[in-house]
Amino acid sequence: MCGIIGYIGKQPAGPILMSGLRRLEYRGYDSSGIALVSKGGLKVHKAQGKLAQLEKLLPKRLAGTLGIGHTRWATHGEPSDANAHPHCDETGRIAVIHNGIIENAPQLRARLESDGHTFLSETDTEVLAHLIAASGEEALEQRVREALLAVQGTYGIAVVDRDQPDRLVVARNGSPVILGIGEREMFVASDVSALVRHTRQVVHLDDREIAVLEMGGFRTLTLDDQPTDKQPLTISAGQEQYEKDGFDHYLLKEIHAQPEACERTLRGRIDRQFNTAHLGGLDLPPRELLDIRRIKILGCGSAYYAGMVGANMIETLTRVPCDAEPAAEFRYRNPVIEKDVLYMAVSQSGETFDTLAAAQEVQRKGGRVLGVVNAVGSTIARQCDGGIYVHAGPEVSVASTKTFTCSLLAFALFGLHLGRIRDVSPGEGRRLCDALLALPEQIRQVLDQSDAIQQIAVEHLAHNHSAFYIGRAGCYPIALEGAQKMKEISYVHAEAYPASELKHGPLALVSPETPTVALIPHDDLLEKSLSSVEEIRARRGPVIAVTHAGDTRITERADAVIEVPKTESVLDPVLLSIPLQLLAYHAAVALGRDVDQPRNLAKSVTVE
Ligand code: GLU
Repeated sequence: MCGIIGYIGKQPAGPILMSGLRRLEYRGYDSSGIALVSKGGLKVHKAQGKLAQLEKLLPKRLAGTLGIGHTRWATHGEPSDANAHPHCDETGRIAVIHNGIIENAPQLRARLESDGHTFLSETDTEVLAHLIAASGEEALEQRVREALLAVQGTYGIAVVDRDQPDRLVVARNGSPVILGIGEREMFVASDVSALVRHTRQVVHLDDREIAVLEMGGFRTLTLDDQPTDKQPLTISAGQEQYEKDGFDHYLLKEIHAQPEACERTLRGRIDRQFNTAHLGGLDLPPRELLDIRRIKILGCGSAYYAGMVGANMIETLTRVPCDAEPAAEFRYRNPVIEKDVLYMAVSQSGETFDTLAAAQEVQRKGGRVLGVVNAVGSTIARQCDGGIYVHAGPEVSVASTKTFTCSLLAFALFGLHLGRIRDVSPGEGRRLCDALLALPEQIRQVLDQSDAIQQIAVEHLAHNHSAFYIGRAGCYPIALEGAQKMKEISYVHAEAYPASELKHGPLALVSPETPTVALIPHDDLLEKSLSSVEEIRARRGPVIAVTHAGDTRITERADAVIEVPKTESVLDPVLLSIPLQLLAYHAAVALGRDVDQPRNLAKSVTVE
C-alpha cells in the first residue's frame, strides 16, 4: 500500500517522480505529493485526492535533480492536504515519505512536543521528520539510523535533506523498498512497476536495512551500522506490461490476459513422460513430500479464496487433508506448528504484511513454508523455504483476476505433483495434464462471451442492492471470490454461501430484487444444486446459472445462463470463476464506478 518513488541523478527529478507516481497510484490514492531539492532549497507540493489534483497545482518548471514522491493510503489521519506526504520538520530541512505504520508514534510525538516541536498533521509519519531533524548526527544516513532506532512499527521510507543534496536515504522494515540502478543515476520505489521504464537492475532491501543513494551508486548498512553486500537482480517485466493496451481499464486487460497468463503458469511444468508436474522451485524431494501428513494454506482476500480452492484441489488429488485459513487470524491464534505439516503462503505482490508475518510465525516455530507468489524476488518469495511462482505477470488493477486464476493452476500443478507421488495413477495423471493444457483455450472461449455476460450484468445485477452467490465444495470459494469482486468494484452488496446453507438463514432475504448467481457444474452434486435453485425460485428470486452445457433443467429454471466448457471436475472452479469476473466488471462499468481504483482500497496490503 502507498507508493514510494525517489530519484537522484542528472535529469530533472520532477517528471520522473510524476510518471513514477502515475504507475504507483493503484497502491493508494487518498493523496499524493513530491519534494524536490535544488539550489533553491527544499520544495514540497502535495494535495488530497487522486494524482490529477497534484498535477493541477504543480508549477510548470520543477527545479531539482533529487526528489521523492508518494501516493497515500491513509492509516493514521483522514485523507487531507495536511496529512499528505512528504512530511517535513518545522525548519523545512528534512522531507520524508513513508509506507507502513509507526506504532509508537503517539509516545514519540508527545516527547517531541514537550521538547517544543510543533506538528502539522495527524499522521504517524510526521514524527520521523522531526526525529531525523533533531538527531545529533551529521550524515543523513546516520540521522535516519538514529531516528529509526527509536521507532517501533513498519516502514519503507525515503528521506531527503536540503543541506545534503548529494544523497537520498531510504530504509525498510516490513514495507517493500526496491532500488533501481541507472547510469550515474539511482531510483527507488515501493514496487518495480515504477522502475521498469528506467532500469532492469534492481536491489531489494531487507528488513532493518538502510541504503544511501548517490548519483554514482549506492551503499547499504544495517540499523546496527554494519555494511551489507547487495547483489543486483535483473528483472524481466517490460514497461509495456504496465500499459492498458487499448482496453478501457487495467481490469479488463487483465481479465483478457488470462489465457496467456495461464500458459506461462504451465510452461515447462507439465512432465509428459511421467504425466506429472515438474515444479523446480519446491526444493522438496519426493521422500520428504511422502512424509507430509497435512497441508495448511495461508493468504488474505482473493489469495485466501484461491487457497480455499487450492486446498480442495490438493485434498481431492492427494487425499492429504488440506485447508486454508486467513493469514492474519492464523498468526494471532498461537497456532500449533507440526513437523509433518506443510504450510503454503499465497500472495500476489509477495509483500502482503499479514501473510508474511504468518509465514514467519510458522518458520519461527520450526515449520516449513512454501510460497505461491506472483512477484518474482518479493519479500515472501525470498522468505519462504521454496515455492511456486505463479507467473501471471504484473497485475495493476486493485481487484485480482489473472493472479487468482494462475494461483489455482499453481495449486493444481502442486496437487498433480504430490498426487503422482502418492496414489494418482498414470492414466489419471495423463487426463489431468491434458485438461490443464486445454485450460487457456477454454478460458478464451469463456471470454468470447463477454458481450452476453455484459447484458446479464446490466439486466440482473447492476441495479439491485444485493445479490447472493452460491456454490458447493470447490465452487463455494469461487462464489466467495465472485461476491468479493462484485462488492469491491461495483459496490453492490453481495454475499456468498455454500448452496446447502441457504435454507439455514439467508433464504429469508431472497426476493425478486435479490438475484442469486448459482455455480452449477455437472458433477456429483448437480441434483443437490438443482434443489437449491428450486428453493430460490419458490421465493421468486432470479437465478443466474453459471454451468456446463446440456442440461435443460437448468436452462428452463434459470433467468439467465452462462455456460463454460467442461474440464476435469477438479478444475471446474477455474473456468467457472471467469464469468464472475466479467459480471462484476460489467456491473461496475454500468454503474459508472472507478473500476481500477475502487474507493477505500489499494493494491498490495503492506500494513497490518
Ligand atoms: N501511516 C502513514 C499514513 O497514514 C502511511 C500510510 C501509507 O502506507 O500510505 O500516512
